[in-house]
Amino acid sequence: MASHSSLMPSDAIYHWHTLMPDKVLVLLESDRQHGLTREQVLERQQRFGLNELEDTGGRSGWTILLDQFKNVMLIMLIAVAAVSAILDLRGNNFPKDAIAILLIVGLNAVLGYLQESRAEKALAALKQLASPVVRVIRDGQLLEVEASDLVPGDIFWIEAGMQIAADGLLLEAMNLQVRESALTGESNAVTKRAGEPCDVDTPLGDRLNLVFQGTEVVYGRGVAIVISTGMRTELGRIATMLQSVESEPTPLQQRMEQLGNVLVGGSMLLVALVVIGGVLITGWNQFESLLEVSLSMAVAVVPEGLPAVITVTLALGTQRMVHRHALIRKLPAVETLGSVTHICSDKTGTLTQNKMIVQAVYIDRDETNGCHVNITGDGYDPAGEFHHEGCVIAPETSLVLRRLLAGCVLCNDATLKREGSDWSVLGDPTEGALLTLAAKANIHKPTWLSQCPRIHELAFSSERKRMSVICKLNPSASKNLYLTHPYLMYTKGSPELVLNLCTHAQVGDRPSPLTPEHRQRILRHTDQMSGRGLRVLGIAYRELMDIQINDSTNIEQHMTWLGLVGMLDAPRPEVKEAVVRCRQAGIHPIMITGDHQLTARVIAEELGIAQPGDRVLTGQEIEHLGDAQLDEVMGNVSVYARVSPKHKLRIVQSLQRQGQIVAMTGDGVNDAPALKQANIGIAMGITGTDVSKEASDMVLLDDNFATIVAATEEGRVVYTNIRRFVKYILGSNIGEVLTVAVSPILVPLGGVPLTPLQILWMNLVTDGVPALALAVEPAEPSVMQRPPHDPQESIFARGLGAYMLRIGCVFTILAVSLMVWSYHYAATTPGDPERWKTMVFTTLCLAQMGHAIAIRSNSRLTIELNPLSNPYVWGAVILTTILQLMLIYVPPLQEFFGTHVLTAKELGVCLGFSLLMFVWIELEKLFVRFAKRMGWPINVSD
Ligand code: ATP
Repeated sequence: MASHSSLMPSDAIYHWHTLMPDKVLVLLESDRQHGLTREQVLERQQRFGLNELEDTGGRSGWTILLDQFKNVMLIMLIAVAAVSAILDLRGNNFPKDAIAILLIVGLNAVLGYLQESRAEKALAALKQLASPVVRVIRDGQLLEVEASDLVPGDIFWIEAGMQIAADGLLLEAMNLQVRESALTGESNAVTKRAGEPCDVDTPLGDRLNLVFQGTEVVYGRGVAIVISTGMRTELGRIATMLQSVESEPTPLQQRMEQLGNVLVGGSMLLVALVVIGGVLITGWNQFESLLEVSLSMAVAVVPEGLPAVITVTLALGTQRMVHRHALIRKLPAVETLGSVTHICSDKTGTLTQNKMIVQAVYIDRDETNGCHVNITGDGYDPAGEFHHEGCVIAPETSLVLRRLLAGCVLCNDATLKREGSDWSVLGDPTEGALLTLAAKANIHKPTWLSQCPRIHELAFSSERKRMSVICKLNPSASKNLYLTHPYLMYTKGSPELVLNLCTHAQVGDRPSPLTPEHRQRILRHTDQMSGRGLRVLGIAYRELMDIQINDSTNIEQHMTWLGLVGMLDAPRPEVKEAVVRCRQAGIHPIMITGDHQLTARVIAEELGIAQPGDRVLTGQEIEHLGDAQLDEVMGNVSVYARVSPKHKLRIVQSLQRQGQIVAMTGDGVNDAPALKQANIGIAMGITGTDVSKEASDMVLLDDNFATIVAATEEGRVVYTNIRRFVKYILGSNIGEVLTVAVSPILVPLGGVPLTPLQILWMNLVTDGVPALALAVEPAEPSVMQRPPHDPQESIFARGLGAYMLRIGCVFTILAVSLMVWSYHYAATTPGDPERWKTMVFTTLCLAQMGHAIAIRSNSRLTIELNPLSNPYVWGAVILTTILQLMLIYVPPLQEFFGTHVLTAKELGVCLGFSLLMFVWIELEKLFVRFAKRMGWPINVSD
């Protein structure tokens, strides 16, 4: 055996593709049956590091910082600072406004940087969560480990739907087809073979004995040994990042960016208008004061704090969703979730628990009579009995049962696992249930597999709805099953399909030709078992003399029917309530399943997805409907049964043609097109294939339907909160602009009350800090009691634009009334008459505090809210108020911001005026309630 130092897991040195599996096993000091030892794994993990690609997806710190200055609002502020500096320098004044603006620009960039890198980190953490698991053999045990834990020499399992986790050399391959487009660009799948070395200079795409990291298994299965990991793999060499969690901007972010551009453009226009119009009317001598007014307006119009608050809200939303087990892979999904109108969900595992227990077996007693056998026991624990007509029976005494149970273990890829008294399944729970069933009759997979090794198989797929294997019988197995041919084929799957492959049925000890009546009887019993909500599989066998199989041979024919197996998969208890919530929220839950229509109907009715008598559409019926017909019938259907992935795609497309926003779940490799087509593609975190996860926008970490509903609720909360602080911020911006705009008219009162610096302070601090707190406002109780919003709607829809204008006007009226009042008051009171400007500034800031408190709910009065449900708002209000007071009373700040000390009475007046804003919003809520009660058609912004 080679020493450790001879281990060279790089085919730059070793041409792995030219070697036979045995040689590779020796070179990598591994073992086909036992894999690596724990010590070897630890030593190799130290030596080669984690099996991860270097992250090329995320932005570096510098890029994030530089990106802040690409913001058109900041660029405009820099321009404003430049103009202000020129004005000050010409007047021989110290350019403090310009310096302050630049400082605030810097501060804003740093804040933006901190917030975005936090968002970026959150996304990186999500990426970790998305990391797939791989089945390996270590220390002779079959284990599931994280893909990042793989080391060279590990023996790992490959199966359909997987994204291969490391480069490997195949030790075994069964109909293995891999799509290598990630690496070679070739979109057709390549058939891989084990034990066939290639020439040294074989191109990558033709190395059929190797599998490569990042490529996708579309069919079959295999076993391989890891030859290289991490950045040493072929994919690592081209350093492409797959498994990425994308952070593309959401439609809302894009729209807000556009809005920013419009506002900046608009404010520039305003500056031009005020300056040119002013000069035309009043002549050049007013130029500088006009410029001063217009610069204040330009600064006032732009919501500097908004983009950062939106980014943080979305990032926090994704984190909250992870706590509720929904992993967002593409940021726009957060927003789209709020407008979902249809949730199309798989049945098995999402609506049900995916813990299968075989409850009944049906076999033929003679040509005209069948025999129901009930099975007792719990979970996957192989302790239980076979009952017939109330008596315990010994299954080994019945040849049909023996053959059927042998089929259950031989035509099976799962493994039963015991930990203490707990039994679980590695692999498909449907197959796990069959292993448990057989074990209850003392038929164990390891023993039978050693007696009847598998030599060929036709894998299960959702399209085929069946699986077949061919085994070579040893004499003891032949004797046990009373078979004479050397090979035995088993098929299990959807009963109608399997029955179609059969020409005979096993009746007692002999096969008897299947008559139409006999077929009818079997189908009737299938319906009867399905009608109890059981998932029913049919099992059949065929004896073979030899196995001359090529790709065109149809061996799944001339089979002999053995019987039906019915297993229970109980609905998840929490789904029923989630379905009710869906309906209240105007969302239609739809079940799409590969299972039998009766099974589907029973479960759907139990969960409230379908009402008794509702139509169930089958895949076969969909086949016969054109697109237009499908669109027509669709409205009445909430259960689709016996469908294949291609039908799922048609269902999504049809719903979308009708303007619906569709969330669709999927787990299989062929679900990817439907997941991509859906507005929200949802993959299963536990049972989903890597390919489906890769195609999805969101991954359910617990595979649970209720999680989709929870994520939808979070999506709505995020959207509502974004709308809330947009209202909050832009309402105040409009107030500032109007105040500044009307102030030239009030020239006799002393001119513009707010300096650009004070406006910036308001936009960033008094608007920005409470807005951040509003971003974490918990859900309103009504959030899931109203219909989904239209994703195409403008952010200003549903009364939001009108609200902002209204609040802007209230701000302005407050400010102007105060201006008039305090100007006269100041003129008659000792002290600096300029104090009234500080009063206006303070009132506007304090009014925003009242606004922040009142806007927490759109419909409930502040006294009706739990004051502690969002302590951040109170914290933000207290902090901002203290800062505002510091601006007035701390001399250096006072000087810098151009404020004046206010007396207690003046401060009281400011507080009184600002309270009016709070009172106004509360009165609006009361008015809306009244209007609703009176049935007036009003547009309420929520
Ligand atoms: P869902 O789409 O809700 O997850 P499903 O799991 O029933 O439903 P599929 O996995 O596509 O859908 O299964 C479709 C049918 O194929 C099942 O109803 C069953 O008859 C058959 N089947 C399922 N699993 C296996 C298996 N491991 N081997 C053979 N046949 C199977």
